[in-house]
Amino acid sequence: GVRTPDVLIIGAGAAGLMAAMTAARRGKKVVVLDHAPEAGRKILISGGGRCNFTNKDIKPECFLSQNKHFARSALSRYKPADFLALLAAHKIAWHEKKLGQLFCDNSAQDIVRMLLAECEASGVHLLLDVRITDVSRAEHFRVQTSAGEFSSPALVLATGGLSIPKLGATSFSYDVARRFGLPIINPEPALVPLVFGREEESWVRELAGVSLPVKASCGKIAFEEALLFTHRGLSGPALLQISSYWRSGQPVRLDLLPGQDIGQHLAALKAAKGKMKGAAALHRWLPQRLAQELARQFTSDRPVVEWSDKTIRALAEHIHRMDMHPTGTEGFAKAEVTRGGVDTRALSSKTMEAERVPGLYVIGEAVDVTGWLGGYNFHWAWASGHAVGQALGSA
Ligand code: FAD
Repeated sequence: GVRTPDVLIIGAGAAGLMAAMTAARRGKKVVVLDHAPEAGRKILISGGGRCNFTNKDIKPECFLSQNKHFARSALSRYKPADFLALLAAHKIAWHEKKLGQLFCDNSAQDIVRMLLAECEASGVHLLLDVRITDVSRAEHFRVQTSAGEFSSPALVLATGGLSIPKLGATSFSYDVARRFGLPIINPEPALVPLVFGREEESWVRELAGVSLPVKASCGKIAFEEALLFTHRGLSGPALLQISSYWRSGQPVRLDLLPGQDIGQHLAALKAAKGKMKGAAALHRWLPQRLAQELARQFTSDRPVVEWSDKTIRALAEHIHRMDMHPTGTEGFAKAEVTRGGVDTRALSSKTMEAERVPGLYVIGEAVDVTGWLGGYNFHWAWASGHAVGQALGSA
């Protein structure tokens, strides 16, 4: 026969499980469907297996969206402290790494186990390995699946974004949302390494493996963190953060020595009349292979004492204001998240319900809200899942 839960959630990831346990705790009959053989796969691989589950410093400014105020309401009602209280109740140990980023001491599995235990304790029915074949709406939503037919007054889309197709990412939420008339902001890879195809920037790839702290900026936004040279281009936290803001055709500006003045350093060296050669001199402040490359580009590695003031100025300009021209990103296969998604202007920021389709909700990464690197994306999944669970639980 047709099963008739109060709430039907598609996607047993971070947002879906949080929504399920929150609504079920408030007495709702909840079914969660997922096509994967296990729940919370992205949680399991996140944060290098330790899951950077939130950040001490959650601010609306750390989220990208066409509607930058949308996330405020849900974030104000679900705080990092709320998630930490949940961890405490399950005796899960955690620590802060850097920049307020909170990780499990033991393993990301702790988080999945906790969410599943909460769901089980509140009577959520979780069905895995289920293929969804059709979604329609008459009085209620009707969902046809490989595990039978479901009918429910509330349908929650929580299947995440397009990142890492290998793990089973699909466009399911976007497709269903579109079918019900909700607009979609074009989904694109974010928190993703950038690639460089121009001949004059091919030197970047020669430095694969080199890393250093930089300031990377794109338009008005800047991040001071590590940069990593790779075989295809640039990565590392600073570049991943910038990638979420980067648009095709824009340059990315690098300051390879933020907070210092390499021009002054070099002028002082020149004045001291040492015989130190360019690469060795630059290596005082920069990684060796990068120093060698910059010396090659500018001075053919002559001793610093022979450098003209003009060369020093040009090199300083290059080091502090290097405009790089990415030709693209490494795509969804390498992207930690998807920016874009279901347009927030079609959703209630309080409940995540579609304004024009009562009973249809969208949460987590499927929504056009994208967090910075550092626990912000999971926090959005928790907060939006909690908001919908609260709304449904009190209905
Ligand atoms: P997901 O967690 O992706 O869950 C979606 C669920 O829907 C999945 O279980 C999937 O199987 C299911 N699904 C998809 N399509 C269908 C379909 N057609 N039918 C049925 N079910 C379907 N964020 C952080 O904040 N901190 C981190 O440390 C971090 N590390 C990451 C590391 C990696 C390698 C990656 C890829 C991402 C990382 N993220 C991190 C981002 C974070 O994982 C996501 O933002 C978050 O999981 C989104 O939650 P969600 O519930 O919206 O989607």
